[in-house]
Amino acid sequence: MADARTPAARGTPSAVAAAPLVDGYGRVARDLRVSVTDVCNLRCRYCLPDEAMAWLPRNVRLDDDELVRIVSLLARLGVRTVRITGGEPLVRPKLAGLVERIAAIAGIEEISLTTNGVLLARHVAALAEAGVSRVNVSMDSVDPQRFAELTRRDLLPKVLEGIAAAQATPGIDQVKINAVAMRGVTEHEAIDLVAFARAQDLQLRFIEVMPLDAGHRWQPTDVLTADELRAIIGRRWPIAPLERAPSSTATVFRFADGGGEVGFIASVSEPFCADCDRLRLTADGQLRTCLFAHGETDLRSALRDGADDEGLAALITGAVADKQWGHEIHRPGFRPPARSMSSIGG
Ligand code: SAM
Repeated sequence: MADARTPAARGTPSAVAAAPLVDGYGRVARDLRVSVTDVCNLRCRYCLPDEAMAWLPRNVRLDDDELVRIVSLLARLGVRTVRITGGEPLVRPKLAGLVERIAAIAGIEEISLTTNGVLLARHVAALAEAGVSRVNVSMDSVDPQRFAELTRRDLLPKVLEGIAAAQATPGIDQVKINAVAMRGVTEHEAIDLVAFARAQDLQLRFIEVMPLDAGHRWQPTDVLTADELRAIIGRRWPIAPLERAPSSTATVFRFADGGGEVGFIASVSEPFCADCDRLRLTADGQLRTCLFAHGETDLRSALRDGADDEGLAALITGAVADKQWGHEIHRPGFRPPARSMSSIGG
């Protein structure tokens, strides 16, 4: 009888079998966030400073061949979904070519993109053709002045253009909006954001602001919690919870009047580490098993020093085995990671 297993499972061409990426708590890694650049064209206040940025030197950023090799290996180890992020992923030259190569990797079932949307209208058709099927656009306000204050760039019209283009592009099955929830800001933006999302038939998700700003200025009181937002939104449009999908970052609620859904990524107030299935690869080739980890696994150096697939796989499985239980934001003595969200890849 023919062996129905994949070539990798049969042990060819190398002995890197389809060993699941399982950590010490039994969680299996299936989702990879790939930061394709640390460079960003916005300066969101909760992420980056306003100063001239010292971006990563070009020679430490992974090139397309290196990225494809690492993602191929991760796919052989069980990764099934890839989210392209950054920095701002759309500033990486020839991104569609890279996406096309990732889409061709055996085992990869879905490619999504997280972007600030500024360059989306220009690139979305090529990206869809290359294999991107889902797009998340980050937008914290639909008011041009507030948007410019929050991002330090007056570019809301470009973002709106990008959202509309993504919605109109064949092959893009889903467009979502992500808004960071910040006390003192989002109370005033939430209703307009929700009204916009409902009118455009988009799912909006609020993400509690996390201690991942480059300046390390985050305070627990900066977080406008999912609970508080649900109260604000629910007063205007009653909402009811849907069952949480396994490993999902968001808890999703539906509007009682049939006006779609709204999600809450309550990373701080209601952490969802228990079934986390995510890994992150930074633009300089460091594997991170938790957003809040202090340690990273240097795949770039190993790869450039000539490691073979078995050697790289051993580094990856070792890193996953050691994955920490979760973030420790609420523990006394909590220290945020040295990198900001933009240099990790959100
Ligand atoms: N530039 C792209 C974008 O804006 O979507 C991709 C990278 S960005 C770092 C990914 C996501 O992280 C965005 O939705 C952004 O709002 C979010 N983010 C950045 N800093 C954050 C923080 N301190 N807390 C929560 N979310 C944050």
